Amino acid sequence: MSFELPKLAYAYNALEPYIDAMTMEIHHTKHHAAYTNNLNNAIKDSENENKSIEEILKNISKYPMVVRNNGGGYYNHNVFWEIMSPNGGGEPKGDLLQAILKDFGSFEKFKESFNNAAATRFGSGWAWLVNQNGKLVISSTPNQDNPLMDVAEIKGTPILAIDVWEHAYYLKYQNRRPEYINAFWNVIDWNLVAKRFV
Ligand code: MN
Repeated sequence: MSFELPKLAYAYNALEPYIDAMTMEIHHTKHHAAYTNNLNNAIKDSENENKSIEEILKNISKYPMVVRNNGGGYYNHNVFWEIMSPNGGGEPKGDLLQAILKDFGSFEKFKESFNNAAATRFGSGWAWLVNQNGKLVISSTPNQDNPLMDVAEIKGTPILAIDVWEHAYYLKYQNRRPEYINAFWNVIDWNLVAKRFV
């Protein structure tokens, strides 16, 4: 068994003007494809071939760095593609909204903390909304680390993710990471985030 690059549920230009088509295509067919291939090569002919990505990530401290970087890269982009859509924007509803209000006070405060985590991650990495058994927290991780990893400072299940590597925004936004982060709110599909929050 090997890990497969997922197909996107929308076209590369579907998230325009917030995320441009060329960035999406290169990000998916080059960057995500490379993480996937490198992960498969790193675990080839080992017992890890039969493990789920979640199983590998939760014991990542026992693996070589090549698995940490590429296993994280494989998983993180799966989440990222999954929670965006051309029908994004607005605010969450139902249980997810209630949990956000309980743990952050208001949607605006939540948005501010998430933006801050994404903007202040130095260098390459990710910002997350993490479910810790019903409690929501925000975190950010360097490189391709994520909250499923046993090495993460803040652990839990990621339900929302933003990639703040320069390859995620540089073609359209250059050094203006905060503009990209603001634009991202227009492509977050809260119905899809809610599906990850159970
Ligand atoms: Mn990326």
